[in-house]
Amino acid sequence: MYEGVVQDLIDELGRLPGVGPKSAQRIAFHLLQAEPTDVRRLADVLIEVKARVKFCSTCFNVSEDDQCRICRDERRDPSVLCVVEEYKDVVAIERTREFRGRYHVLGGAISPIDGIGPDQLHVKELMPRLADGTVTEVILATDPNLEGEATATYLTRLLLPMGLRVTRLASGLPVGGDLEYADEVTLGRAFAGRRAAQ
Ligand SMILES: [Zn+2]
Repeated sequence: MYEGVVQDLIDELGRLPGVGPKSAQRIAFHLLQAEPTDVRRLADVLIEVKARVKFCSTCFNVSEDDQCRICRDERRDPSVLCVVEEYKDVVAIERTREFRGRYHVLGGAISPIDGIGPDQLHVKELMPRLADGTVTEVILATDPNLEGEATATYLTRLLLPMGLRVTRLASGLPVGGDLEYADEVTLGRAFAGRRAAQ
């Protein structure tokens, strides 16, 4: 244990995803030794990102405006909607250049152990987007792990009775991992080879 504000810094860093106690200490001591201007730049960008970046009111993608760039882009195909767990999945799919439709970001996946059910995700906001018949295909691009599978199964049962084409990414993605960790070629292929969900 360290004193006062140094320990506060280690505690805060340790709350970040993927940062264990040892890494938190290492980052804290790095910051203590760094130039004040470098640390100030990091602090400024942290404050600015929280002040400026919001979530798109339509798809919950990260956005600096009310609607994100993809929702505003009229060249995107309005008939295909790709449902993903997180914003970083949008980034991964955009990199493949395989998809020209729009997105819906759930904000996570169903995980009973963590107390996350459909109500904790942006599922209810998905329904109005499918109501007017513009969207004819929904691609479920959840992560290839237990929670992602559970989420896709839940959504398939919800969407199929609405008469929509519901598809899943082709297999071949690394099982148990995150969508974002798949390389562009593999993810692009999984997109192109998507199959009907059942
Ligand atoms: Zn959007």
